[in-house]
Amino acid sequence: MTTSIDRSALQAPQNVWDMAQQQLDEVAHLIGLTEGIHLFLRQPKRVLEVSVPVHMDDGRVRVFTGYRVQHNMARGPAKGGIRFHPDVTLDEVKALAMWMTWKCALVNIPFGGAKGGVICDPKAMSMHELEHLTRRFTTEISIVIGPEKDIPAPDVYTTPQIMAWIMDTYSMQKGYSIPGVVTGKPIAIGGSLGRDKATARGCLYVVDEAMKMLSLDATGARVAIQGFGNAGMHAATLMAQAGYRIVAASDSRGGVANASGLDVRGLVAHKTETGSVVGFGGGEAISNKDVLECDCDVLVPAALEKVITAQNAPNIKAKIVAEAANGPTLPEADAILHERGVMVLPDILANAGGVTVSYFEWVQDLQENFWEEDEINERLKQKMTRAFRETHEQAKRHDVNMRTGAYAVAVERVAEATRLRGLYP
Ligand code: NAD
Repeated sequence: MTTSIDRSALQAPQNVWDMAQQQLDEVAHLIGLTEGIHLFLRQPKRVLEVSVPVHMDDGRVRVFTGYRVQHNMARGPAKGGIRFHPDVTLDEVKALAMWMTWKCALVNIPFGGAKGGVICDPKAMSMHELEHLTRRFTTEISIVIGPEKDIPAPDVYTTPQIMAWIMDTYSMQKGYSIPGVVTGKPIAIGGSLGRDKATARGCLYVVDEAMKMLSLDATGARVAIQGFGNAGMHAATLMAQAGYRIVAASDSRGGVANASGLDVRGLVAHKTETGSVVGFGGGEAISNKDVLECDCDVLVPAALEKVITAQNAPNIKAKIVAEAANGPTLPEADAILHERGVMVLPDILANAGGVTVSYFEWVQDLQENFWEEDEINERLKQKMTRAFRETHEQAKRHDVNMRTGAYAVAVERVAEATRLRGLYP
């Protein structure tokens, strides 16, 4: 039996949660999921909304709203980052949690999916305020997190320092150190070598595979990157080291471009010093919009959702779009890019390196035995290239784009675990 969900009502997604559900609906139809499993996977398992009161530096108390959503735990404990951003919404957190379920299944690590978020502007807060926000938020969600049930990690505007506060707060409440409660921690307290660059490194590995598949030469291939934080900045560095030419990069304040290639080391130093790529001497100013449409072979959106739309998709010149960010491409834009022969490496594949090394970090914490960085990078490469090949095989088999191919692999794995476990009680 296939689903009875009305697909015609799902043509124009209003928000990212609609978009995430629509992506699932399309693949459910394709792989013939039973209605029961489809309906089960369409909703999060658990949603927690919390109030987070914080004493601000000016003596006032502000109350922030935070969320932790666990989408699915059929294959293992839930896993997913925490985002601190003024635009966080519950629907966004639900979508990101669902994407984590598919991402973990696609790279075949024994985790389900979760995500957290707090509506706040961390750029306008002092370290003291951020620490109190983090510790109180951790306390409020401590009823659902833990190394055996739900393990947070960094996401937009959350850092290794914030992970350290989460680890410390949870450990203080339990009375002993529990590094496995969170990943993306500093090395000194149980973090993993290679975790800081893992998202970008995984992205590079799948771009390399795509280049080979399309018989393109990586040396000198032009890359444009939108977003210059953990994912984007490390992607620029690693791709430049691998011989790609970074021709444009941007962050929330604007961008910089140089057709002969940006000096990435200089750009990273400028960003670290000034907080932005804007004003870097080695290129010309370019807007965020123009970064997406500039002349390049590989486009790496590495900022926020919904930036590739039906309006700009026809103007994108890249042959490969590698989604380091989660949800950067709207479904209608996806269709346009597919029709134009652009290979889109979907988020659940292109940015899965982060959660993969987070899994390695969790395994190392539980075993209290830490690996060398070369070993971590080699294991990451194996997971990423296998996921790329399985995605490509499914895309070819069903004659669909890489996103639907990746979903076919991932959703089937979660569905199989769900079928085997059965419906409790
Ligand atoms: P980050 O906070 O380190 O960096 C975000 C970057 O995006 C910053 O450079 C910021 O200036 C830029 N930005 C914000 N708004 C922008 C806008 N409107 N236009 C252009 N740039 C803008 O965050 P991150 O960890 O690098 O995350 C970026 C994306 O990658 C997110 O979608 C996140 O979910 C995804 N991701 C991150 C990881 C990880 O390990 N960090 C893993 C998987 C996916």
